[in-house]
Amino acid sequence: MATIATPTKPDLLQTLPSDAARQIQWRFADRYDLQMLVQSVRSVARGPVARLVAGGGRNSHDWTPAKAELLEAFDQSGITAVFMEPEQGGYIAGPKNLALALIAFELAWVDGGAATASLAGCLALAPIHERGTAEQQAKYMQLAAPPQAGEDRKPLRGAFCLTEPIPYVGVDTGMLNGKLRVAEWKEGEDPILQVEKRGRFITNIGFANFVTAAVDSGDERIKGSCMVILEEGDPGTFDRGTPTRKLVHQLSSTGDPVFSLRIPASRIVGGYDVKDGVIVPRYSHSDVIEAVFRRTRVTVGVMTAAKLLSAVEPVIRYQRGRFRGGETATPGSVRYELGLQARQDTLHRLVDIWATGEAGASLGFAAARAFDELDPLEREAGKLFVAQGGTTARARAKLQREVSERAATLVALPANDPTRALLQSDPLLRFVLLDSQADVLCPATKLWNTGWGAQMMREAVSLMGGYGITEDCPGFLGNKWMDAQLEATYEGPEAVQRRQLSITMANPLFLAQFKAWINEMRAIASERPATGACTLATAMGMWLWTLERLQHSKDADGDRLYQSARQGVTFPLADALCWLLAARCQILDVLELEQRGASDPAVSEGLAGLLNFMADLCHVQSARASGEVSRICAELVFGYNRHPAWDEAGYRGCFQQADLDSLEGIMPGINSYGLDVIGNDGSHPPKAGPCAKCQGAEQFLSFQSKLATCLTGCRLSKDRAAEAISKVMIPEALDYPA
Ligand SMILES: Cc1cc2nc3c(=O)[nH]c(=O)nc-3n(C[C@H](O)[C@H](O)[C@H](O)COP(=O)(O)OP(=O)(O)OC[C@H]3O[C@@H](n4cnc5c(N)ncnc54)[C@H](O)[C@@H]3O)c2cc1C
Repeated sequence: MATIATPTKPDLLQTLPSDAARQIQWRFADRYDLQMLVQSVRSVARGPVARLVAGGGRNSHDWTPAKAELLEAFDQSGITAVFMEPEQGGYIAGPKNLALALIAFELAWVDGGAATASLAGCLALAPIHERGTAEQQAKYMQLAAPPQAGEDRKPLRGAFCLTEPIPYVGVDTGMLNGKLRVAEWKEGEDPILQVEKRGRFITNIGFANFVTAAVDSGDERIKGSCMVILEEGDPGTFDRGTPTRKLVHQLSSTGDPVFSLRIPASRIVGGYDVKDGVIVPRYSHSDVIEAVFRRTRVTVGVMTAAKLLSAVEPVIRYQRGRFRGGETATPGSVRYELGLQARQDTLHRLVDIWATGEAGASLGFAAARAFDELDPLEREAGKLFVAQGGTTARARAKLQREVSERAATLVALPANDPTRALLQSDPLLRFVLLDSQADVLCPATKLWNTGWGAQMMREAVSLMGGYGITEDCPGFLGNKWMDAQLEATYEGPEAVQRRQLSITMANPLFLAQFKAWINEMRAIASERPATGACTLATAMGMWLWTLERLQHSKDADGDRLYQSARQGVTFPLADALCWLLAARCQILDVLELEQRGASDPAVSEGLAGLLNFMADLCHVQSARASGEVSRICAELVFGYNRHPAWDEAGYRGCFQQADLDSLEGIMPGINSYGLDVIGNDGSHPPKAGPCAKCQGAEQFLSFQSKLATCLTGCRLSKDRAAEAISKVMIPEALDYPA
């Protein structure tokens, strides 16, 4: 059986990772339906999408007939129908988070805008899917599904409209200006409502037939906010607005619409009750968007990871061929054969890009799988909570808190304690465990994959030299770099994800699991030292120590450090966690490949080389992640203490030269130990002040020094990975046009 090796001359990577290897890593080797889906999405991505980009389709802001043809390609290839259940016209039963993530991955491999155009349709339907009434679900899901054989209709297309023109909804989704009023309410009939909503940057608006829009009550007969479904044919104004002059994602349609429409109250997403003559929507707009974004943000994160991985092959080809045709680059010469890859830095940078792409994909797919597992569990838990008396939001929250506390106690028990089995068998315990993980994995994927991914896309562009920033760049890398910034922005920019993480990562149940993950990494490291799991475990311990310290510390002025207003504390700590989570998922995926690869005939050939390379990438990424965590945590732990000055208080901690001189007689050499010595004339050493002490942070320093030595070997891994990249076989040409 092939295992991850640590010899000095290990097997090298032979080819780029195959589909079969990816199926194992991202855990869909047993899902034939998803494997078929990947193939059909790929044929659209590398066919019509790539041809449209290569033909200049991105050069216009308008929604053109050529772009519209992509929607038909999505319908015909089965992409559109993935979101629906079989009885609604779909073909995949059950949760679809992984399926949607795979679609996003394949489309974004070529063009992020095309991926967004496809996903925005799901985003429009998501409020209905998550919180809609049975009637709303039956109607809109079926109408949005592509027509079945013999049906003569066009599928409905949707847009999701939350963001409003400044100064209203942006990051702060509570500042709604869109209004809902009662236009007509006849005794015994459904009220007719008047909707006034202006949108800003709304995707799919160029062709949408329906819109799910967030609105607030503008009438005392309606309580609070909600989401409503608007249709193109509703009486009033359905103005799509002018197209947004975007610099990115030009294959999707974006604009600033204006709606002034009359709709029946049955279009309130999730329905309503009438209490004392007031319409009370069952779900506020916040309830709905929370359920929606929780899932859809994962797919956005997967998109940026796909772009990084898609950059590998074009960069290798460019580097190798760089000097071919020149007089000095004759076949057989280093210049001819290796081109730019004869230079270590070009290889090392590509190793970093590849490792980031792997970590991002592993994190994103892990998050998607977590939601697939969570979806049915959430429904089951909902029923169980109601059965136990959780009929109101407050009662349910109380019950959930109690179950979470129980789960945290169980997670902390030793691995061989028999009561731990309850964590797997009790659906409520399983639910709270997974829910607390998903609460972290989703914002982490969106934040790290897109934010750090955008930085690393710049690196990928830079490796192509001037070519990288031209339209001719193979793999459309320049577009992908710019597009990554949109992925970091829409569906809530980085601040939104950091804000959410700063709450969810402090959940005791998540932290109990995180502690168990540290042990898990150590156990992996003892069997597979080459993965960098030990380094990661040390960095995870450092992060946890820092969080606990910041939660219980004050700054030099006596103000609490870990609190929502102090984004300077909570946000960097959230960033640090993301590095750790991504690197952990990457290691787990490589272990999966090791465990299952040998028995898969499509993977076993060349597996040893692939595993060695993937483990080296893990080591590189773990080292980088640990460095980031160490840097961030050190700033937070020490940065809020005031540095001692050369003043009265500072002098108190210093030696006096006269004292040292008198001690020299009984303790010879003491003079050479004094760092902060005040001279007999009052002079002090030329520095900012007496050296700062580390009171209470000694353990942090021991983590730091341990971490530094834990980095042993990581650069050897990088060298090995670089060598592998310089020798790996790639196809003669890219499989989509430039
Ligand atoms: C091409 C495109 C497509 C889009 N598609 C849709 C769509 O289909 N539907 C839809 O509803 N919206 C859509 N959007 C809107 C998008 O979701 C918003 O642009 C995004 O959420 C950011 O809001 P904003 O632009 O108002 O930024 P702002 O809220 O003005 O934020 C500006 C900056 O300030 C920071 N910031 C803001 N508030 C805080 C805070 N409280 N704490 C810390 N930092 C903060 C932000 O992180 C950001 O860096 C789209 C946008 C684009 C560009």
